[in-house]
Amino acid sequence: MLVSFQLLTIGSAITLLGAKPVEAGNVLPQSSPAWLNHVAVPTAGVVKQVPRPDQFQTGDLKPVDLDLSMYPEILKQPPVNHPEVQAVVKAIDWNKVPKIAPRIVKDWTFDIKSYDSDTDKDCWWSATSCKTPKADYLPEDIYYCPRAGDWGLNYDDGPYKMMYPTSDQDKLYDQPRFYNYLVANNMQRATLFFVGSNVAKFPDAAQRALNNGHTICSHTWSHPQMTSLTNEEVVAQLYWTHRAIKQVLGITPKCWRPPYGDVDDRVRAIAHQMGMRTILWDQDSYDWNMVGGQSGGKLQPAEVHAFFQKWIDNAKLGNDTRGHITLEHESSKNTIDVAEKWLPKLQETFNVMPIHQCINDVHPYWEQAFTYPSSSDKGNGKGSVLVGVKSSASNIQIQGVMVVLAMMLACLLGQ
Ligand SMILES: [Zn+2]
Repeated sequence: MLVSFQLLTIGSAITLLGAKPVEAGNVLPQSSPAWLNHVAVPTAGVVKQVPRPDQFQTGDLKPVDLDLSMYPEILKQPPVNHPEVQAVVKAIDWNKVPKIAPRIVKDWTFDIKSYDSDTDKDCWWSATSCKTPKADYLPEDIYYCPRAGDWGLNYDDGPYKMMYPTSDQDKLYDQPRFYNYLVANNMQRATLFFVGSNVAKFPDAAQRALNNGHTICSHTWSHPQMTSLTNEEVVAQLYWTHRAIKQVLGITPKCWRPPYGDVDDRVRAIAHQMGMRTILWDQDSYDWNMVGGQSGGKLQPAEVHAFFQKWIDNAKLGNDTRGHITLEHESSKNTIDVAEKWLPKLQETFNVMPIHQCINDVHPYWEQAFTYPSSSDKGNGKGSVLVGVKSSASNIQIQGVMVVLAMMLACLLGQ
C-alpha cells in the first residue's frame, strides 16, 4: 500500500511537471530528408552522440577544412537552379504548400497594410504574431516552455566570429569565447540557431558547439525575410544550411527559426516538408536592437537589462504560469555581453535548459543516436518556481507516508 501510494504521488508530480503541447491529429507526416543522403558526415572532430559534461571541450579551436567552393556565396541568397536544390523542390508535395504570393518588402519593411490582419488567413507572424497555422496539416509553432520555472535558453545567428575583422580587437568575442563561458557556468547547454553561412565559414566553432552538448537548429543560409522569397528561394535557404550542418556536424536538425520571426503558412509548410518544426519565442530581449549593434539599434543596454530584471522579478513573485523561450543572440560583442551578464542570474531563478529539453523532445535531429536529456532532468539553475512545485510534491509524499503510518498504528492499537 505504501509503495502504491508513493507511485501515485510520484505519478501526479510527473503529470504536474511534465505537460507537453498537444498536436492536432492531421499534421502532415514528416520523414528524414532523403535529399541529404549523398552528404558525407565528418569522420573526426565531432561527437557521434550527445556528449557527457565531463567530455565538454574548452580552449582554442582546432582548424577544420571545408571546401567552400561547393557552397553558394556566403550570406547571399543561393541560386535556385542548382541540381541539389531542384532535387528538394521535386521531393516537396506542392499541394500541401499554401499558394501565397511572396511578400513585398521595401527598405526591410513589409507592406502589412494591404494584408488583412483581422482574418490573418496565412498566419503571418510579422503582421499578427500568429503561431497557430491556419493550414490544418501544420503543427503549432513552438514558442514557450510548458512548465513554469523553465527557461529555454537559446541564442541566434551563430556560430559567431566576426566575418570581416579589421583588428585583433575585433576578434576578442569570436567563438569559442562564449561557448567556453557556458561550460564555465555550470556546464550550461543551450539551443543554438545557426546561420548556414556561418557554419560553412566557421566549421571549427560549429563543431565545438555540438561537442559541448548544445542543440543545433537551422536559421537559414543568409538570414533573409523568408516570406519575401519565392518557394524555390525558401528551399535553397533551408537546403544549403542543412547541407552545411550535416557535412560539418553530421546531424540533420528537425528545428528551425525564421529570421526576424518572419514566417507564414507557405514558408512553414516548406520547412515542415523539409523535416523541420518552426520555433519562435514568447519574450524578446531586444538585444538585437541595442545601440552600437550590427544593425545600428535604438535601445541603451540598460533598457535591455531591464527586461531581464523584470522577467526575474515576475518569476520570483510567482506570476509565471509557464516557462519561457526568450530571443537572444550571439551575433556581436554587445549581445554576448548581455548574455554573459544575465546567465548566472537566470540560473539563480529558473531551470535553465535547451528548448527541446523544456518541451521534453529528446530527439531534435533525424539521427536517433543523439538522445538529449528529457524535461525530467533538471536544467542548470536553482529554479525557485520549480523548486516550489517540487517541494510541495514531496510534502504530499511525506504527508502520504504519515497517513499510512497513522493507519498502521491505528490497526495495531485496534488489535
Ligand atoms: Zn537571426
